[in-house]
Amino acid sequence: MTDLQESLNPVIYAENAYNDLNKHLENFKASKIFVLVDTNTHEHCLSYFLNKISTISDIEVIEIEAGEEFKNLETCEGVWNALSELEADRKSLMINLGGGVVTDLGGFVASAFKRGINFINVPTTLLSMVDASVGGKTGVDLGNLKNQIGFIVQPEMVLIDTYFLKTLPVEEMRSGLAEILKHGLIADETYWNKVSDLASLDLSDLDDIIKESIDIKKAVVLKDPYEKNLRKTLNYGHTLGHAIESYCLTHPEKSRLLHGEAIAVGMILETYISSELETFPKEKLENVTATIKDMYGKHSFSEEDIVQIQDLMKYDKKNEHGNINFVLLEDIGKPVIDRTVPEELIKKAFHYYLNV
Ligand code: NAD
Ligand code: ZN
Repeated sequence: MTDLQESLNPVIYAENAYNDLNKHLENFKASKIFVLVDTNTHEHCLSYFLNKISTISDIEVIEIEAGEEFKNLETCEGVWNALSELEADRKSLMINLGGGVVTDLGGFVASAFKRGINFINVPTTLLSMVDASVGGKTGVDLGNLKNQIGFIVQPEMVLIDTYFLKTLPVEEMRSGLAEILKHGLIADETYWNKVSDLASLDLSDLDDIIKESIDIKKAVVLKDPYEKNLRKTLNYGHTLGHAIESYCLTHPEKSRLLHGEAIAVGMILETYISSELETFPKEKLENVTATIKDMYGKHSFSEEDIVQIQDLMKYDKKNEHGNINFVLLEDIGKPVIDRTVPEELIKKAFHYYLNV
């Protein structure tokens, strides 16, 4: 496994990124390069990317189906079989070209194949640029439970090129924005004020915003790579958000929520809980709720949905000794970890969300 400190460093940005990547490929001398794509990144991103890289190594493309429902061990097995048939060895390099599903699954597949081959992430969604591709969490879902199987292994390099966002559907952009909002809430009120004021946001600011978000994430991960304490704060909105996401995934009659959309709901609920259990100011709760609702609208949850979502939370990875641990906020930029929340208060939070 790669040294964390060293490998967290190279997040490289568009302008010189491909020069740096090509230099890296030249030095690494991979026996073969495997570019992992999904059906959409195959169509929209692959040829552009292949035109940008120059290497003497042979390049093979492996494609998986697009979508969270394919982020599972069966898909991994398909990729491992393909690697094996294409004679990958320990000196092979995997390049994950895609959103969070491709970078999570590809990182996991690479880390387990022959006990670990190197991989590089080239994120192509906003969400994977600011979150999934950085920090080394890799893995897949187990049944309807998110990210139950995986490793923390750092990629050799993360290449950020916002050119890829040109073909990204608008709802996927909004999904990614949720993680940016989260970074503001847990780390930096000035940044929150900037990114929550969408009206004055210009797309040309996006490069800077992405960089700032990645810096926030990197700073947290560097201090606590294995999620003993500080890194848990990156799970803000996710305890409830993941349960909501899993629930919607297995109930197709419900409106399907993308990861970021579910996290957005989770952030309103957890900010409400913060205002009840911690010192989070009421007027800021109103601001957070209004900002998120403006962007994401409102989803409906029946009493039965709420009960089932609470049941699902019991499987959250962050549970310890049977307690469901929450990250809460004392204020914007002031997170606290390992908080237990009474079930009744979770119900109240849903009622707040539904009625506000
Ligand atoms: P995704 O990978 O499913 O991508 C979303 C959709 O956009 C897919 O249909 C994909 O094919 C398509 N797509 C990707 N790039 C495109 C492009 N440039 N143009 C057009 N279409 C494109 O989902 P995501 O939102 O990127 O990531 C969500 C996943 O990331 C979840 O599984 C989540 O658990 C994971 N995640 C991981 C971490 C981590 O730290 N490892 C952090 C946050 C989220
Ligand atoms: Zn997330």
